[in-house]
Amino acid sequence: MSTGEAPRRRFPLPLDKLSPQPAAKAQPRELLRPQRHLQQAAQDAARQAAPSGLGMDSAGVRLRMVQRLQREGLKDERVVQALAAVPRHEFVDTALAIQAYEDTSLPIGHGQTISKPSVVGRMIELLMAGANARAQGQLGRVLEIGTGCGYQAAVLACLARQVLSIERLKPLHEKARANLEALRLGGRVRLIYGDGRLGHAGAGPFDAIIAAAGGEDLPEAWLAQLAPGGRLVAPMLAPGGRSQVLVVVDHLVEAGVSRLVRTLHEPVLFVPLKSGVL
Ligand code: SAH
Repeated sequence: MSTGEAPRRRFPLPLDKLSPQPAAKAQPRELLRPQRHLQQAAQDAARQAAPSGLGMDSAGVRLRMVQRLQREGLKDERVVQALAAVPRHEFVDTALAIQAYEDTSLPIGHGQTISKPSVVGRMIELLMAGANARAQGQLGRVLEIGTGCGYQAAVLACLARQVLSIERLKPLHEKARANLEALRLGGRVRLIYGDGRLGHAGAGPFDAIIAAAGGEDLPEAWLAQLAPGGRLVAPMLAPGGRSQVLVVVDHLVEAGVSRLVRTLHEPVLFVPLKSGVL
């Protein structure tokens, strides 16, 4: 989480602010001043090391990130807009902000990671293709397991009526709360500290369930809390038990008969789904 920086931006950003902004005008070269104050020199060095997109034109860097994801296969325009709107660098430590718009997972402390933007995009795109999401034109009521730093919850909040996200590690639960409040998303995302394997029956059923941690199988509670027409997307141990794959479960209702249909997708690599809280 970044601290001690310039005040954070209001969220959500108006979409017309997402176009790349013109590069700052070149400044005339500074005359050599051997006795320049050390702190000033350090600040200048830091400014030069930062990618041009961090800071005033981070919307431009995000736009380039989503354009890359689109070239690599992300199709749903609404997901593209959501990824373009959420300032990922606000969810990682200042020292890692420089890498925030690369398609990579990054450490968020406590042995956990923020997911790769391409994987966040892919999973949410799969959710958007579920029956209820197609009927409603948005995700409806979403359950996320594994809040982490809150990045994916913020992206989901752009596309859902309501997001409930559960985290089992107290410090990360609190970090996510601070991150989301700073972006004025506190009201749209309900954060729960608890064991996400149990889901949250009191707030269910959910039109969409998404897990950011993978176990050996899908917990029964998730399947029980998936609304008719709902879709679940989660990583899970692949048959054979050596790698993880993305699993999609649809709760279909045909002629008044409910059934759960499970399909396996591409290999993925997520942190383990653990039980209990810490
Ligand atoms: N969605 C997050 C990714 C976080 S990594 C983001 O955008 O940053 C996955 C998270 O799942 C970790 O924070 C881990 O603590 C959490 N997790 C693992 N098992 C869990 C469980 N049973 N209940 C809730 N959270 C869990």
